[in-house]
Amino acid sequence: MEIIPIAFDSMGVRSMATFLKTKDLGISIDPSVSLAPYRFGLPPHRVEIEKMSEKWVEIKGFVKNSELVIITHYHYDHYNPEEVEIFEGKKLLIKHPREKINKSQMNRADYFLNKLKDLRLDFDYCDGKSYEFGNTVIEISKPVFHGENQKLGFVLELFVSSGKKSFLFSSDVEGPLHEDQTNFILEKKPEVVFIDGPMSYMLGYRFSRSLLEKAISNLKKITEVSKVLVIDHHLLRDLNWKIVVSDLLNYAEQFSTKVQSAAEFCGIKENLLEARRRELYKKEQI
Ligand SMILES: [Zn+2]
Ligand SMILES: [Zn+2]
Repeated sequence: MEIIPIAFDSMGVRSMATFLKTKDLGISIDPSVSLAPYRFGLPPHRVEIEKMSEKWVEIKGFVKNSELVIITHYHYDHYNPEEVEIFEGKKLLIKHPREKINKSQMNRADYFLNKLKDLRLDFDYCDGKSYEFGNTVIEISKPVFHGENQKLGFVLELFVSSGKKSFLFSSDVEGPLHEDQTNFILEKKPEVVFIDGPMSYMLGYRFSRSLLEKAISNLKKITEVSKVLVIDHHLLRDLNWKIVVSDLLNYAEQFSTKVQSAAEFCGIKENLLEARRRELYKKEQI
């Protein structure tokens, strides 16, 4: 199985878009990209907008080479309802639009499904289900909280195995912060995990110290069962992310588990544009 992170916060945009290639099929997960509407009171900088356009073109290229597309929840950094034609002829596994969902995501899901009606495609609400494509097995979790509670709705985690290789993808759990978010991962014992990390950039404001500690403790458990733990998205909006999770990095060493960002997983330099937005504007004034 080949695992390709396409667009991530560590690459300068809000996204977790990932492409998987197994012997049986190509799979695009959460193919979308967005930017923080405001950070430090500033709208997106030109450099970020350019990066977003570049990444969206890349994402569309990977979707073209996919037979299957999986959408874990209805936030715009994870699906794009405005260019649905990219899904023509594909199979879509999507979060249930009515069950275990909050009001705002329910409305967005309705709008999205309405747009899909005009296309030739096959879709299924995949919450808690399993699928087989040749030797590739895909298992979807039951809906788990988007972060700390149900205020922001629910997301799906997914496990893909093909031969001896296995991969787990967990979008906006913001930690993970809960047992059910963590247990699905611990049960599957995936070789490689891509997960949304704690939003330490909101520490003391919308994210508490005790939640951060909970996240680190759950992430530690994952390093005991996996070989590679990629933490990105909310955590990579913080320039000091490695200091924030230094305890986890030390802990993982004893199991020889790699803990890294998606950019590091690709062997490229991190490019935290959102966290550097103020700097980007300052540079322009010089
Ligand atoms: Zn989300
Ligand atoms: Zn997100």
